[in-house]
Parts: sequence; C-alpha cells; structure tokens
Amino acid sequence: MLFDTIIFGPIKSRRLGVSLGVNLLPQHGKICSFDCIYCECGLNADGREDTQLPTRQQVRKALEEKLIAYKQAGGEPIDTFTFAGNGEPTLHPDFKEIVLDTQKLRNQYYPDAKISVLTNAWQLDKPAVLEGLRQVDNAILKLDSAIPSTLLSMNRPVSPTFNIDTLIEQLASFRGQCIVQTMFLRGAGVDNTTPAEIEAWLGALKRIQPSLVQLYSIDRKVPIEGLEHVGEEELKAIAAKVKKIGLKTLVTP
Ligand code: SF4
Repeated sequence: MLFDTIIFGPIKSRRLGVSLGVNLLPQHGKICSFDCIYCECGLNADGREDTQLPTRQQVRKALEEKLIAYKQAGGEPIDTFTFAGNGEPTLHPDFKEIVLDTQKLRNQYYPDAKISVLTNAWQLDKPAVLEGLRQVDNAILKLDSAIPSTLLSMNRPVSPTFNIDTLIEQLASFRGQCIVQTMFLRGAGVDNTTPAEIEAWLGALKRIQPSLVQLYSIDRKVPIEGLEHVGEEELKAIAAKVKKIGLKTLVTP
C-alpha cells in the first residue's frame, strides 16, 4: 500500500502514539535502498511509475497546512511527527533541512511532540543524513539480522557495496542515542528467529547499546508469498533475552 500524500494521518500507533506521517518519497511510487521481502509499500520494481520527490518547500507547506487544519478541527494532540512513507526517507536530498523545518513547525504548533524517523540506516555515511538523524528525538534504525546471508535475503540491499559490519558500526556510532527496530518472520527461505540468529543479533545489540529495541512481526499484506507472522509470546521470549543484556524492549505483536 502506498501513501498518496506528503502528509498522512494522524494515526494511532502503539509505538508512537498519535503519529502524523511525513512521506518524503513519491506519492505514487516507491524508492528505497533496501527491497525488503516484507515491505508494506511493495517491491521496488513495482513502484517505479512515479519517481518525483516532493520539494522541501512542498513538504513545509503541506505540513503547515495540515497542522493549521488539524488544530482548527480540535484533533487530539500530536505525539510524534514520523518520517516514514513510500521508501527510505533519508534518500531525499534535503532530508536534513526538512527535519529542521519540521522542528520549527513542531515547536510552533505541538511543542511537546517528538520527531521520529524510520530508516534502514544505510545512508549514514552521508554527513548530512547523520546530522539530520542526530537532530531528531527518535532515530529508529532497522536491524533485522546480524547474519549477512539472512540480512541479504530479508532486506535485499540495492547497493552492491552493502556490508553488515559497516551497518552495525554505523548504528554503534549513535552511542546509544537510537532505537533499533527488528522485524521477525519466517518463510520464503528466511528465518531470523533461530538460536543462531538470536545469538548473533544479541551480539550486535551489545555493540550498539540502543536506548530501546522494538520487536515486531508482519501484520499486513506483504509482497512475497509464504511469510509467517511470529506470535506475541515468541516475540516476548526473544525480548526477555534482550532484557538480560540490559536493554529496554518494546514488543508490538
Ligand atoms: S527499508 Fe523500509 S521502505 Fe525500504 S524496503 Fe525495507 S521496509 Fe520497505
């Protein structure tokens, strides 16, 4: 499912509260540096009809118009401005500047709200992306596996230079000021719930030391057949292992 507007929601999210979405990607297409088998936006190959990114000015205007209308309608206070949408938000060339614009509008209209970015964390070698992410309250970084073959099968990075050790070191460079988000699933030749997977993933988490680890599983339509949801009890059992190494967890079944 694609988001067909620049600003979407707000929606009630168990993880983020009342969340207003910001989509920096095309409104009728998908662009991402990963091509995850579980992506709710579909596969990259199916989302190439529209490659037009909104401009910084368009995003600021759409956000301010939405905030004015929402305030006037007496909507429930916004808890989080969430950069998500049809692909990877940090691929937008003005990502950092748009974060700064959003901070200004947040301060003006909902000063208590947080700013969150859902990212696959594969643009962290770009200084502007890193600076933008360091400005936000919740940098939510994807790490679905610490075993290269599993990560390649599950997330299917587009870049041939993708390297899992680099990814983990980039996550660790946040020095704990980040949230790690992990999708657990089985099927289509992938299973990131095995003891070997969990052991390797816990090792990476020890290195990264995130402020929170979010565990979830598929709950909507996914583009690849045969993927299985991992149930709440199993997610909680994995979360208990994360707590044992001293990290906070949030399970979203
Ligand atoms: S990183 Fe996110 S947007 Fe990109 S393919 Fe994976 S789930 Fe979809």
